[in-house]
Amino acid sequence: MTDSLSRTHAMALDAADPLRQLRSEFIIPRHGHNDQIYFVGNSLGLQPKAAKAHLQDVLDKWADHAVEGHFRGDTAWMTYHELLREPLARIVGAQPSEVVAMNSLTANLHFMMVSFYRPTAERPAILIEAGAFPSDRHAVESQIRFHGFNPDTDLIEVQPDTAQGTLSMQAIERAIAEHGPRLALVLWPGIQYRTGQAFDIRRIVELGHAQGAMVGIDLAHAAGNLPLQLHDDNVDFAVWCHYKYLNAGPGAVAGCFVHERHADSDCPRFAGWWGHEKETRFQMAPEFVPTRGAEGWQLSNPPVLGLAPLRASVELFEKAGGVAALHAKSRKLTGYLEELIQARVSDVLEIVTPADPAERGAQLSLRVVGGRQRGRDLFEYLASVGILGDWREPDVIRISPAPLYNRYMDVYRFVEEVENWRGV
Ligand SMILES: *Cc1c(COP(=O)(O)O)cnc(C)c1O
Repeated sequence: MTDSLSRTHAMALDAADPLRQLRSEFIIPRHGHNDQIYFVGNSLGLQPKAAKAHLQDVLDKWADHAVEGHFRGDTAWMTYHELLREPLARIVGAQPSEVVAMNSLTANLHFMMVSFYRPTAERPAILIEAGAFPSDRHAVESQIRFHGFNPDTDLIEVQPDTAQGTLSMQAIERAIAEHGPRLALVLWPGIQYRTGQAFDIRRIVELGHAQGAMVGIDLAHAAGNLPLQLHDDNVDFAVWCHYKYLNAGPGAVAGCFVHERHADSDCPRFAGWWGHEKETRFQMAPEFVPTRGAEGWQLSNPPVLGLAPLRASVELFEKAGGVAALHAKSRKLTGYLEELIQARVSDVLEIVTPADPAERGAQLSLRVVGGRQRGRDLFEYLASVGILGDWREPDVIRISPAPLYNRYMDVYRFVEEVENWRGV
């Protein structure tokens, strides 16, 4: 029994991990003479070693062929974004025509709302979770105002109803039922960034649709973390970034999903030439004819230098055997973190994230017992010994073991250092 808490056990878990080789595909930052123990892949994923070669490839083609680079070889810039379509579709559970890599997350959220938030006097409201990521809240609030409605009445924020500050499904059901006839859009996170709580996307889509609302999902913390089925779950649209669990680098080009049933929709959209039907785009005619599917929402010719590292990232997801294989490891790794915390440092750290593995991904949000100052002390101690999590005011440390590159020993070391700080 105690054996499962030992250092030897952590080593055995690493030795038996079928995905352990993937770590060597990443550049791990150093702390003195050791690898840093990096638990912030939910904020900025580590650099895949192959990212540089993909970037270099674009730079070389630019140097050697300049404008001809648009048409040259397998990685011609004209169709460069299409190289990402199928791997990204596998990552989010979509048909290839339903996904596109473009813009940034918040920009995509606005463009999606232009098409799928169509408020009327009877049905003006957007429902989100209280404590949403500020950018999402700014986006929905400004859209409500843009349409001449009032966020005081038309931005509905569902309050957490559990002791840990998470949301029960009943609270979500109640809110959607209560406001149903006034809801134009439900915008919900796949995983809540602060608490790490994962939601039943299919159920939320059903509830929203039953009330006649559109349902959009923000997958910032879910893409590349949880297995997703956006198509089968009937999500209307989704947006996500590629710099968190997808390791495509700071400010990486983001992702966007539009369900197949909207592929031919004549809903309003903010158009640009790259969304124009491919076959006739270069006739340069004045009328806009959209490309079928998500690519019809593109505006500009893609930032190829920005997309290059994402190719390295999706290759690693393929190499891992897909998100399902990664998630199988992730459940064990996060479960191991939970087990060690409960057994050894439960007097220091209180787990905010739900205990049910179906309600979380690769992140535990840990409230430091004793308040903010004690929390800051611990956080700074951990950083001084090379263990990086991130801090959320007033007293939470988020620890996110990423199955692509974190080890069981990383988790063990974290708990060991929390003990060292407290005094064993
Ligand atoms: C990380 C994150 C963002 C970041 O938005 P950008 O447009 O990429 O800067 C937005 N929303 C959520 C929920 C996030 O977790």
